[in-house]
Amino acid sequence: MATTPGRVRSAFKSGTPARVHRNPFDDVLEQIDRAAEVLHPDADALEPLRHARRQVIVSIPVMMDDGRLRVLEGYRVVYDNSRGPGKGGIRYHPDVNLDEMKALAAWMAWKCAIVDIPFGGAKGGVACDPLKMSDGELERVTRRYISEIFDLIGPTVDIPAPDVGTSPRVMAWVMDTFSMKKGYVEPGVVTGKPIPLGGSGGRLEATGRGLLFVTRETLRRIGHVLSDSTVAIQGFGNVGSNAAKLLHAAGARVVAVSDVSGAVYDPHGLDMPRVLAYYRETRQLRGFPGTELLDNQQLLRLPVDVLLPAAMEGQINADNASELRARIVVEGANGPTTPEADQILSKRGVLVVPDILANAGGVVVSYFEWVQDRYGYFWKEPEVNERLEEKMVAAFDAVWTTKEKFEVDARTAAYILAVDRIIEARSLRGLYA
Ligand code: NAD
Repeated sequence: MATTPGRVRSAFKSGTPARVHRNPFDDVLEQIDRAAEVLHPDADALEPLRHARRQVIVSIPVMMDDGRLRVLEGYRVVYDNSRGPGKGGIRYHPDVNLDEMKALAAWMAWKCAIVDIPFGGAKGGVACDPLKMSDGELERVTRRYISEIFDLIGPTVDIPAPDVGTSPRVMAWVMDTFSMKKGYVEPGVVTGKPIPLGGSGGRLEATGRGLLFVTRETLRRIGHVLSDSTVAIQGFGNVGSNAAKLLHAAGARVVAVSDVSGAVYDPHGLDMPRVLAYYRETRQLRGFPGTELLDNQQLLRLPVDVLLPAAMEGQINADNASELRARIVVEGANGPTTPEADQILSKRGVLVVPDILANAGGVVVSYFEWVQDRYGYFWKEPEVNERLEEKMVAAFDAVWTTKEKFEVDARTAAYILAVDRIIEARSLRGLYA
């Protein structure tokens, strides 16, 4: 359950970047400049956005199962909290570092501003390899990390969530550690929790469901309907499989889906409930009866209305962008399109719906989880889904209006909208001195 927005190329779900990239916070600065070229804010309004509000590094001594003590490094960054408390995941990955956290925190601020939820942007993490750690080690790291940043998080301060390498199980430990230290139960300190601890119905499918709404709205804007459209989806994890299931249920013809083992293709449309059952049983797509087996590159080049990359970063790049035959790319993954590919697609008239809008359904339902925790009253899942639709459609409309007003591509429009909303909040609050 990752929440990485923006043109991320160095900090991804899959771990190792496709290629080494410069400081990702430089990308943030570039995006601010891109928005500023259109918005022309005064320099004083812009300057604070060039700095993260708070950056914390902590040492985490932890006893490993083999009896040895290791000291890990943990981080928590709040990039901006002008619109509300910080919001952003906790990442456990060997590559976690301060610059990455700053960039990811900024992209969380963009994302929250675009879907207009009352949060700023934050991110945290521990440089470690969770795949090589036992449950006991993970629990000890989590509890000590949360103890170290205890004063800096809370339901009105900064609210963590899962990200790469962490899970609802880890969030349960976050909630418990915080609650034990406070002396009362505080579910609103963290989202992405298991449902019995105050998690929200609909969270698991939320990113895929958000993608459904955004895809539907994009098609509508170009005079198409879902029920008359073909879709190819790369990646069949949380995001890809839920998007496939929901798009199919909404009437789209999903002709191809893929995982790391390859892609299955049927130009007449895949029977998605059967594909999902097959995948649950075999843990792979390869071999699904009655379909043609393609590789992931072939999937990207299929002649479809919608291509939905939902696997990893940099999949659409300078090598394949000129050969894509999709009319629309809806970015389910974070950073699936490189900047070079973006330019090629733009010249070819392919509409790219950027990740910071398209995959924001997860953070919207995280917000709903926080609201429900604070109320102590939980909505039924259909209500969560209905409110998600409302938020995603409103965000889509706002980005589209910005796109048309300034005659820019959808990605630039998303940056403009985010930066504008954050600057507006900052200027209304004024400078506390
Ligand atoms: P996941 O780990 O559940 O699934 C990833 C999928 O990609 C798997 O099916 C895997 O087989 C496939 N894959 C891996 N390498 C591949 C390759 N080379 N070619 C084709 N497929 C490959 O991850 P997820 O949670 O579904 O996240 C996918 C992307 O969406 C990531 O970029 C993540 O940051 C982003 N995202 C996730 C969420 C969320 O709520 N889960 C929210 C926003 C953004």
